[in-house]
Amino acid sequence: MTVSSVATAAYIVAALLFIASLAGLSKHETARQGLTFGIVAMAISLVASLILVVDISDALGIALLLVAMAVGAIIGMTRAANVEMSGMPELIALLHSFVGLGAVLVGWNGYLGHGDIAADLVEIHRAEVFVGVFIGAVTCTGSIVAYLVLSARIDSAPLLLPGKNVLNLGALVLFVALTIGFVASPNIWLLLAVTIVALALGWHLVASIGGGDMPVVVSMLNSYSGWAAAASGFLLDNDLLIVIGALVGSSGAYLSYIMCKAMNRSFISVIAGGFGIASATNDDADYGEHREISAADTAELLENAASVVITPGYGMAVAQAQYPVADLVRKLRERGVEVRFGIHPVAGRLPGHMNVLLAEAKVPYDIVLEMDEINEDLAGTSVVLVIGANDTVNPAAEDPGSPIAGMPVLRVWEAENVIVFKRSMAAGYAGVQNPLFFRDNTQMLFGDAKQRVEEIVRALDLASVR
Ligand code: NDP
Repeated sequence: MTVSSVATAAYIVAALLFIASLAGLSKHETARQGLTFGIVAMAISLVASLILVVDISDALGIALLLVAMAVGAIIGMTRAANVEMSGMPELIALLHSFVGLGAVLVGWNGYLGHGDIAADLVEIHRAEVFVGVFIGAVTCTGSIVAYLVLSARIDSAPLLLPGKNVLNLGALVLFVALTIGFVASPNIWLLLAVTIVALALGWHLVASIGGGDMPVVVSMLNSYSGWAAAASGFLLDNDLLIVIGALVGSSGAYLSYIMCKAMNRSFISVIAGGFGIASATNDDADYGEHREISAADTAELLENAASVVITPGYGMAVAQAQYPVADLVRKLRERGVEVRFGIHPVAGRLPGHMNVLLAEAKVPYDIVLEMDEINEDLAGTSVVLVIGANDTVNPAAEDPGSPIAGMPVLRVWEAENVIVFKRSMAAGYAGVQNPLFFRDNTQMLFGDAKQRVEEIVRALDLASVR
């Protein structure tokens, strides 16, 4: 058995583990196991690639490789240890730009350093170089713009250049023309031209999209980075990179599709550098007066409730209220109250945001239900606690004239009582006023969600002492 056949077998094991990892990550219960599979698969891939690629006699090459790996590992571990949950989308965007840059460099290397390509494969190789550089460069600058917008380093308003769709289409046509020219007669100027066109296209595509759609864009760029890696896999003749790239590419595209569906955005318009989300709307409608409730009265209501559903949103993440919320849930369940969570697919700022926070606070998985699983039960629920959620519980989504018309929402207003935790009457992420706040069965509990939930927990403790 040769070293290279062992490495190839290791690739197959790693590819299977990556697939098992994705399967594991799709459910709370198995997510941790999925991560472990992913880590093991990545370790196997790294070792097997080193065995296949490294020339043992090249001491300088090995030393440089080890230094690069050590620097990468230190930066990666430090960032991962320090990143805030709310800073995750921008970090992911930045990391995608590295994948894109990597694909561009692999492409250039494929052109400058190809010595032993079989004559009948040379043209395919040239096309691979071009496709790899193109996807990589679009991913690179697109991800940098997404990072800058998400970290508020540049304005999140969409860039509206005149004829922006024509510009995008023109860049694509130019890419096809340059590819044909390069395959027929390769030269460095054509490669340079496609790199510049793709860098500019990536920048323009993402800059034309409003900040509101940015998380979908990040997920789409995740998909592009997968395809860029797959293109690099073809160039490097590395089967594992092709498999992993295709897995990342297709799962990223599917995730974007799910997000678009949950936000009622057009998938095609988002990926085509589409139409940014409408910013705050001027809603002059008179919804009447809202009613307020205190933490102590909320505690009393909860104690006497038969069933409680909690629908958390972005505000719970901002307030970091998940720990007192978990505490509240424990106390209510001890008193025989049925408590469940209803999670909207785009609650928070990235898919799975709420699930991660609740898992962090050790809320049992079996009471955390998806929107479709809980919506039918809301009508028979005694109290719904809307903790820092807004758009995801907005009945205006059922009004065809609303900017969020058609967005599937949690129908919390069907419950007997609704308590909304927020700091003011301000609109949610979509900038749309929420008629829920003015309904007869709704009461507002103003203030920071963490403080208010802690007060409710204290009131429950006091009540049990009396
Ligand atoms: P929203 O962003 O609509 O609303 C959050 C609410 O939390 C606000 O109304 C705010 O009101 C309140 N809030 C903020 N801080 C606090 C605090 N410290 N204490 C109490 N309340 C607080 O939240 P949702 O989760 O309901 O909706 C998510 C939105 O994000 C949707 O529009 C979705 O489309 C969008 N989105 C989600 C993505 C995802 O993948 N999850 C991706 C892209 C977009 P106030 O300021 O008055 O306190």
